[in-house]
Amino acid sequence: MPKIYFIDVTNRDAVQASRIIMAKLQKTMLNFYLGEMGLHQSEFSFPTVRHERNYIQGNLELKEQGIFGDLVLEGWCRAIVGDVKDSLASGVRDLNISISTSDQMILHKFRGKLDREKVIHEMVEAASYARSNGVNTLGVNAEDASRTDMAYLIEFAQAAKEAGADRIRYCDTLGYDTPMSIYERTKALAEKVKIPIELHCHNDLGMAVANAIAGAKGALDGGVDSYINTSVNGVGERAGQTDLVSCILALKFGRDMQECEIADPLNLTVADKLAKYVSYAFGIPIPINQPGVGFNIFAHEAGIHADGALKDRRNYELFEYESLGRGEDERIPTGRMITTGEFGGIAGFRHVYEEIGVSLPDDDSTKHILELVQFASAHTQLPLTDDELCFIASHPEEASKILTLNP
Ligand SMILES: [Zn+2]
Repeated sequence: MPKIYFIDVTNRDAVQASRIIMAKLQKTMLNFYLGEMGLHQSEFSFPTVRHERNYIQGNLELKEQGIFGDLVLEGWCRAIVGDVKDSLASGVRDLNISISTSDQMILHKFRGKLDREKVIHEMVEAASYARSNGVNTLGVNAEDASRTDMAYLIEFAQAAKEAGADRIRYCDTLGYDTPMSIYERTKALAEKVKIPIELHCHNDLGMAVANAIAGAKGALDGGVDSYINTSVNGVGERAGQTDLVSCILALKFGRDMQECEIADPLNLTVADKLAKYVSYAFGIPIPINQPGVGFNIFAHEAGIHADGALKDRRNYELFEYESLGRGEDERIPTGRMITTGEFGGIAGFRHVYEEIGVSLPDDDSTKHILELVQFASAHTQLPLTDDELCFIASHPEEASKILTLNP
């Protein structure tokens, strides 16, 4: 039976959007949480961009040590040989390569440089190069697949498969599809080409989650595995993309969705912590009505609702707040508070680590970790979270690499 896997693209697609920024340390923490949550893959980098290099190497070393669990770290680049070459040189071994397939983009973006035939040729060259130069898994992305002529999309996917692609990414780049249209198209693609399909859906018409699920169902019904692309809190280009938590909730609790089997060993109790961390890192508040993790999701006030929820939570709640890792009271100190950061000293620093229950090593190493914490805070321009402080103390070498940018 074909199954559904999750690929989170926050660390690539969300961070490329206008005014949405995460520091390398924060991107690393995100990989850590995604691993803890049990996702299949994180699209974690732009391997052709030089300032990503130390972050990539540090994260691949951490992956080697097993701190991300089974999470696959995959990079994204254009489907051209030069980009694939640079990406493999960065150490990345799992790759998605991307090229536009719609006539709109072929005619008005490539403007005569490429036509339909040349697009396939370029993609095949890049895919073949990746395959014969040590790529581990290879996804081929059809950008603007939803506005691509179906016969041509099938031809493109067939060529990708023959060139060694493991998956084809169906990109609804502009959020143009509807649940009905994407279901029909991915089912047809699956039946004709028999290649696993990734669903990459944007939210311009407010349908990203619905489209991702309908598209995944189309792929499953067509007989292939599907890989849903998500971002944390749905952040991404323009109106964003498929929200990770909403998508998991929809598959677990939506009508008849349970027949779609999820392959990943998902631990939804990480959801609340993950959503809050990404909100903090991006500086973008979680909407009060955000599915699963919004402030109002388990709040009831209207007489009939409060009465009903108190009698039996199932009157007004589809799922339990505990299943999302909610329910703990948050500690907000109102008296004296010692923090550590960019200009912190050794006494405050020791105090903060004691508070979070981390014992520090001998003096020299402690000074080194203090310095790293100062750098980290200078790097994120935010007070560090407990998990960030723990990470720096337990992986100082990799933290040091990840914090280093050499222009
Ligand atoms: Zn996208």
